[in-house]
Amino acid sequence: MSAIEKLTKASHLINMDDIIREGHPTLRLNAQEVALPLSDQDIILGEKMLQFLKHSQDPVMAEKMKLRGGVGLAAPQLDISRRIIAALVPNPEDEEGNPPKEAYALQEIMFNPRIVSHSVQEAAIEGGEGCLSVDREVQGYVVRHARITVEYTDKTGEKQRIKLKGFNAIVIQHEIDHINGIMFYDRIDPEHPLAVKDGMLIIE
Ligand SMILES: [Zn+2]
Repeated sequence: MSAIEKLTKASHLINMDDIIREGHPTLRLNAQEVALPLSDQDIILGEKMLQFLKHSQDPVMAEKMKLRGGVGLAAPQLDISRRIIAALVPNPEDEEGNPPKEAYALQEIMFNPRIVSHSVQEAAIEGGEGCLSVDREVQGYVVRHARITVEYTDKTGEKQRIKLKGFNAIVIQHEIDHINGIMFYDRIDPEHPLAVKDGMLIIE
């Protein structure tokens, strides 16, 4: 059975064993565009990827399945070199610890996503970034665009164009990098990993 057949089987839940790690050549490929109209297989794969992120953020499922928590996943991380990404960014609880009104700041599966414009201003997450394909901590600011406009096809086949900022914008740039063969640490200044460039927004 091929990787894609296994991953899209109704009974299969994506788990950490399905995720390839740094050093695997697929993570360095420029992934293939998915054909439109979307195939059932591509749609199912996208849904399975989003389901994985949900499981990874659910304390009971994450413990049971031994998942690392994640907010984004790209098909190349499953050794499928296709331009499909999923993002699931939870909203924080309020100050009293009540759940947010909207559970997610971003919940989306994107096919052939493309950054069509971006701010001049750059941004980085204060604590750096992590990746399900990288089993070590890498220190340093991952320099990205503060704001982006992304075009993609959604799972119903509709063309979408959305503007993102803050953490959502960082997550989508991280995932789009994966379909272009780029790892997050490629964007850390090797000489000055913690240097704050002029005007760079630091996201807490
Ligand atoms: Zn990653």
